[in-house]
Amino acid sequence: MTSELIVHAPIDGWVCSLDEVPDDAFAGRMVGEGLAIDPTGMTVRAPFDGVVSSLARTGHAVSVRSDDGAEILIHVGLETVALDGAGFTAHVAAGTRVRAGDLLLTLDLEVVAAGAKSLISPILLANEGEVRLLPLNRQVAAGEPIMAVRLAAASGPTLDEGAAALTRTVRAPLPHGLHARPASRIAAGAKSFDARVRLILGERSADAASLTAMMTLGLKDGDELILSASGPQAEAALEAIHALIASGLGEGGEGAHAAPVAEAPAVPAGPAAGEDGELIFSGVTAAPGLVIGRAVRLRQAEIETPEHGRGVMLEQAALQQALTVVRSRIEASVAEGGAHRRAILAAHLAFLDDPGLLATAQEAIEAGRSAGFAWRTATQGGVALFRSLGDARTAERADDLLDLERQLLVELSGEAAPAPMVLGAGSVILADDLLPSQLIALDAVKVAGLCTARGGPTSHVAILAAAMGVPALVAVGPGLERVEDGALVVLDADGRRLVASPSASRQARAQSAAAARDRRRAEARALAAEDCRTADGVRIEVFANLGDVAEAAPAVAGGAEGCGLLRTEFLFLERQSAPTEDEQLAQYQAIADALDGRPLVIRTLDAGGDKPLPYLPMPHEDNPALGLRGVRTGLHRPDLLLTQLRAVCRVRSSGTVAVMLPMIASVAEVRQVRALLDIAAAETGGQAPLLGVMIETPAAAMTADLLAPHIDFVSVGTNDLTQYALAMDRQNAHLAAQLDSLHPAVLRLIAQTAKGAADTRWIGVCGGLASDLLAAPILIGLGVTELSATPSMVAEIKAAVRVMTLADCRDLAAEALTLDSAEAVRALADERLAALLKSRVVGAVA
Ligand code: PEP
Ligand code: MG
Repeated sequence: MTSELIVHAPIDGWVCSLDEVPDDAFAGRMVGEGLAIDPTGMTVRAPFDGVVSSLARTGHAVSVRSDDGAEILIHVGLETVALDGAGFTAHVAAGTRVRAGDLLLTLDLEVVAAGAKSLISPILLANEGEVRLLPLNRQVAAGEPIMAVRLAAASGPTLDEGAAALTRTVRAPLPHGLHARPASRIAAGAKSFDARVRLILGERSADAASLTAMMTLGLKDGDELILSASGPQAEAALEAIHALIASGLGEGGEGAHAAPVAEAPAVPAGPAAGEDGELIFSGVTAAPGLVIGRAVRLRQAEIETPEHGRGVMLEQAALQQALTVVRSRIEASVAEGGAHRRAILAAHLAFLDDPGLLATAQEAIEAGRSAGFAWRTATQGGVALFRSLGDARTAERADDLLDLERQLLVELSGEAAPAPMVLGAGSVILADDLLPSQLIALDAVKVAGLCTARGGPTSHVAILAAAMGVPALVAVGPGLERVEDGALVVLDADGRRLVASPSASRQARAQSAAAARDRRRAEARALAAEDCRTADGVRIEVFANLGDVAEAAPAVAGGAEGCGLLRTEFLFLERQSAPTEDEQLAQYQAIADALDGRPLVIRTLDAGGDKPLPYLPMPHEDNPALGLRGVRTGLHRPDLLLTQLRAVCRVRSSGTVAVMLPMIASVAEVRQVRALLDIAAAETGGQAPLLGVMIETPAAAMTADLLAPHIDFVSVGTNDLTQYALAMDRQNAHLAAQLDSLHPAVLRLIAQTAKGAADTRWIGVCGGLASDLLAAPILIGLGVTELSATPSMVAEIKAAVRVMTLADCRDLAAEALTLDSAEAVRALADERLAALLKSRVVGAVA
């Protein structure tokens, strides 16, 4: 940067020298050179055009980076980090592009003044450079020039970037995170050595000489950091920075560190820079896959709605009319699509009739509000309530309500509903968040992938994306607006990242990975109908999980040799009353017919917990995941269970029909259901079907040998087994990255299950791990003989099984059990599979 950059006052107030700031770090220029403003205004604005490069979680400090790289830190007040956000409202996020004068923060000066040491606010150049102060000791209005800055030519230690780095880990006892003051101490320490030091936190890393880079790490109290140093004084620098951070950096967190506070981990602070100007976003996989496509940003225009009504009668009529139109539009589209889509639309219909929402809207209309304003008041109340309950899955339902809010407001505005977006082939949709109706409205054929800043992996949009077979990444955090419409993007949902403007080499890698994936899928599909055997001929059955009659025939066409898990709760999700025995029989029989004599495993109702059913009200539970779920619901309502068992007993098939019990934790539960099943069989005049249990609790896995004499088979539900073994809620988006069923603890439980249940008819897996190509050989090596996968993965799972001999699988499984992390297990399986594929190809050519 050769020319000067003019910095404009971000806030009204009295401008003065840093010498007047009653804080040693700022007055001593340890954080940076600049000036201070004693504020009189309540709004903090951008000091020039640029990008918000960091925003403290607590909103008390924000920095903006110019396109030339100059970074200005605005630190509002002193010791304001301790306010923990009180008095600050942020209007931007890290990564937001701003113009000079744009609103960054609003302050409640009374609250801030009451809690801060001082309101005086340092405005500093955070990088190395020259600062020219314009006249001090004067009153300025936001937007007036206050200083000019020029960056120094690149300086600092000349290091061999490729030199081997030394690393050390340190836990950071920082009660307020890594805010300006502790960061400035690290930066000062790092600059005093001829070494390059980096702080690495998960997937993010920052140069220890860069204050703002460190602040954007999002480090929280108790986080474990990796320090890496290279250069002539690497060892000494590492030692010094380690000691500095371990001492608490003067932030009062010294000494033995308590367990980290269970605060919701931040979503990523924004994209990281990759090679050749790439922007890399990390997120959570909502639906697997890898695509290269063009970004299409989905923006939503705000719908204006007048506050005041034209009279109670008129507004009431307008609301009724809009509700009727939207209801009939939803009812008309319920007919299309599968069970998931129907369930989502049924939830929308239920909201439209919700007496609470309607009463709130009615009250607002009676108080003189317009129909639109009243409806928004009602839905926003519901949204706030859902989000405040602290349950990730309930919070995701707020999206359904927002979706309906929008549909009604469009209707009331009298404008035509927005025309569906015209998409080009290979469109990767980027959105802050996506509503189910927006996804349904998109041209499914053209949608190649989805990526949202917010959202969770269990949201309805995630379920729809998976059903459409579209890779989806959610919760990538702020910054998606930095990706231009039409920009090339690599959406690697399997690798949990979106790379915008990928470098030529990354494009080539992604293209060959996507091509290899397509090739693999095509080859797998060509052999889908063949029996599945390992390379040495051991028979492994590959089944499909089903939740809808419509899925059965396509699953068979895709190679499924049966159904290893029929999720019966999905068949009646939208019902307001329990299905009768005949209604159930009709559904089960239709699926048995579509399977044409192939085995059908019908799981009894797995309601409760994260799958509430409208017709089955449950008592309030503080911890539903540990409450009345699965078989416990059935034993709590034996009338419902007996009806279901009778329906299963009446299914006619030339093949096996079996009953499977979810969430078993003890032999007593199996005995009780066995007694009911015998009654059902006797009453319906038939033979009792086979009876098996799902292994979803550590208790069931550890007592598989005790359960075995009472059952015919087991099937491991790795989704729940993982959540209960790792004590991590499967709905929690923040834990999604760690919730990997290849965790050695889960594998050891599966090994124990297979050993304990070795004498039963089959040992299956029907959780998500059965659809994981890397997991299949490990599971077989542990003793599993049946895999029930999501229908779209059946052919590929069969192909993966065919590559290895049973001995290969056993070796791999034995080694996996000795590893200490899911990552290590994945790396091992990947390496083994690649080596085997290579040796087979070489062998075939030779
Ligand atoms: C499981 O828990 O792995 C399973 C298959 O059951 P669900 O995902 O339906 O809870
Ligand atoms: Mg389960």
